[in-house]
Amino acid sequence: MLVNEIFHSLQGEGHFSGTPAVFIRLSGCNLHCPFCDTEHEANESMDEAAIAEAAGQWKAPIAVVTGGEPALQLTATLVDALHDRGFKVCVETNGTRPLPHNVDWVTVSPKDLFLGPEAAPVLTKADELKVVYDGIHEPDTYSHIAVRYRYLQPCDTGDPVRNAAITREAADYCLAHPEWRLSLQIHKILNIK
Ligand code: SF4
Repeated sequence: MLVNEIFHSLQGEGHFSGTPAVFIRLSGCNLHCPFCDTEHEANESMDEAAIAEAAGQWKAPIAVVTGGEPALQLTATLVDALHDRGFKVCVETNGTRPLPHNVDWVTVSPKDLFLGPEAAPVLTKADELKVVYDGIHEPDTYSHIAVRYRYLQPCDTGDPVRNAAITREAADYCLAHPEWRLSLQIHKILNIK
């Protein structure tokens, strides 16, 4: 598998926000979102045993497999190997590829505006939906995906004044639409990875 990086931090977003986690960032994606900040080219080839061993050097209740698009590479045997190390396995996906059956928690962050002809949504259910709120567009509920939780995450524009306004508007949106919860990127607030 091509691995971008493996590191230990706090989950900064969504349901497990604040939870110690090992992040396994797999390389490559089938989409080309203009705002993507992932270095798709930086990678190292590792087998599943080496990935599980690298993750296992840290103590954390969850391993978060992310990308890129992790579903391009993630296998049920890697999920099992992470289970054997004591991790609950969470995956963050764009929802265009099927996932191994034994994943414990699925976060879907659809990028339907940027689907090319080679990518179509396939995921019909997930544990949580994460939608970025830009302060301009009404959040899409992606009602074709059955989810337990809907998280609205203020867009990070790089402008602190604009970010504060968007965060306030996102909070107000959740108050007016209580099926949504606010997700703050606490790793950015804490200035950690
Ligand atoms: S789906 Fe995510 S990783 Fe893939 S290009 Fe879009 S933002 Fe980047």
